[in-house]
Amino acid sequence: MTRKPIIFGNWKMNKTPSEAKEFFEGIKGYVTGDEAAEYGIGAPYVDLAIAVENAGAIKVAAENCNELDSGAYTGEVSVPMLKEVGITYCIIGHSERREYYAETSAHCAAKAKRLFAAGITPILCVGETEAEYDAGKTAEVVSTEIKESLEGLTSDEVSRLVIAYEPIWAIGTGKSADVETAEKCCKLVRETVKSLYDEATAEAVRIQYGGSVKPNNIKEYMACEDIDGALIGGASLKVDSFKELVDATK
Ligand code: PGA
Repeated sequence: MTRKPIIFGNWKMNKTPSEAKEFFEGIKGYVTGDEAAEYGIGAPYVDLAIAVENAGAIKVAAENCNELDSGAYTGEVSVPMLKEVGITYCIIGHSERREYYAETSAHCAAKAKRLFAAGITPILCVGETEAEYDAGKTAEVVSTEIKESLEGLTSDEVSRLVIAYEPIWAIGTGKSADVETAEKCCKLVRETVKSLYDEATAEAVRIQYGGSVKPNNIKEYMACEDIDGALIGGASLKVDSFKELVDATK
C-alpha cells in the first residue's frame, strides 16, 4: 500500500484575508499538483474564501467546524457553510481547541462523521501533554483519544482519514520529538486503528507528525515508515519557509 504523503500548514489565529492573499501570491505556481506529496494550508475562517480562490494546487483546510448544520450557536461555523466555500480538508481536535475550548473526542467523532458526509476530509489531531509523557502515559492517552474520536466511523471513512500525532509539549516550543519517539507514536496510532478496524484500514490511514517541524527536520520524520506527512504551525507562516518545506519533501 502506498500512501500519498500529506504536508499541511496550520496558520492558527494568524493572517488577515489580505495577508493570506499575499502569501498565496508569493507561492503561486510553486506547487503544481504533480508532486509526490499533497500540500495544504489550514487557515482561519475569514481567510478561507480568499485561500480557495488563490491557492492553486495547494489544498485548503478549515481549522475547526461545528458538527451541527445550523441553529442558535453564536459564533460557530457549520460544515455546509465550509462546503460552500470550497475547502476540502478540516482540522479537528487540535490540542489548542481541546485545551482552551473544551473540544472533546466525542465532538471530534461527530465532526468527522459530518465532514465525511460532506466530502471533506478531517485531519484529526491527537497527542499527550508533557506530564502524561513523563508519566509514561502516551500510549494510553493517544489510543483512548483515537478510539473515542473514531466512534461511529466506518472503515471506509477511516481509510480516508488523516490523523496528526502531535505531542503537546512539542507544539510551538521548538522542542520537537526525536525521530524515534515520533515514529513509535505514529506506529502506535496505526496499530490502534488496526485493533479497532482491520489491517487494510490501518495501512490506508495517513498519519502526520506535528510539533516544531521545520524545513531542516521534516525529511527525517518523513523517512519513517509510519509517518506520512507533517502538520506544521510556525514554519508554515512565511512563504520562504513553506517553499523550503515543499523543497525538502517533493
Ligand atoms: P508548531 O505547531 O509547528 O508551531 O509546533 C504545530 C501544530 O500545532 O500543528
